[in-house]
Amino acid sequence: MARRKKIYEGKAKILYEGPEPGTLVQYFKDDATAFNAEKHAVIEGKGVLNNRLSEFFMTGLAQVGIPTHFLRRLNMREQLVRQVEIIPLEIIVRNFAAGSMAKRLGMEEGAALPQPIIEFSLKDDKLGDPLVPEEYIIAFQWASQQDLDDIVRLALRVNDFMSGAMYGVGIKLVDFKIEVGRIWDGDFQRLVVADEISPDSCRLWDLQSGEKLDKDVFRRDLGNLTDAYAEVARRLGVMPTNATHITKPTLIN
Ligand code: 5GP
Repeated sequence: MARRKKIYEGKAKILYEGPEPGTLVQYFKDDATAFNAEKHAVIEGKGVLNNRLSEFFMTGLAQVGIPTHFLRRLNMREQLVRQVEIIPLEIIVRNFAAGSMAKRLGMEEGAALPQPIIEFSLKDDKLGDPLVPEEYIIAFQWASQQDLDDIVRLALRVNDFMSGAMYGVGIKLVDFKIEVGRIWDGDFQRLVVADEISPDSCRLWDLQSGEKLDKDVFRRDLGNLTDAYAEVARRLGVMPTNATHITKPTLIN
């Protein structure tokens, strides 16, 4: 039996060689990890939900003119994406204090920030993705000053879109992480949103109750992770509206 070529396996996804040059198949696993993979579980249905939610967000971004790596969803767990040169940074956008920022600065979680704050971490699991200042990024040539200016503009546009999309369904976008890749067009590069956008990489709080609908449910043992992600999907119309308690994800087209 023919076997496809695995290009990369991460904690939550696998990348396989795509059907055409310059494409990859991105497979969403059910694995959930936290605290630099010290905590690990397999959560049935998570990969299916994240595949669908990432498709929803990436498609929405493209519709408002924000370039992404997403081409099309292939099936329940896989999507076709453009092969990009990943910039080795995690780009974090924060609207409200939470997580590592709240801890670092002794702030109350949920405090509104005076403006969206962007920070960069080096993508390096062995080092625990350390926060890095712009000067390091330029000096070590992880990205150029021009790249950083473009990344900040891109991240703020993603924040505007995502905040609005979530607010419309009664959810507050507290913060999120994106990754950015380069695509070469002859001699010119374009930066595009890559990886995934899903409740694994965002903090999403219900506007009324403050209930967490993101990976903190797993990180902090707050309940059933699939139920939380299914609730986000249901509100966005990615899941049937009559689904009440969902044990296994049910997809609609
Ligand atoms: P914090 O720095 O507070 O832990 O995370 C800020 C935001 O970025 C949160 O929404 C969190 O989910 C996301 N984030 C930070 N690091 C990672 C990571 O390595 N993987 C994923 N999926 N999300 C991350």
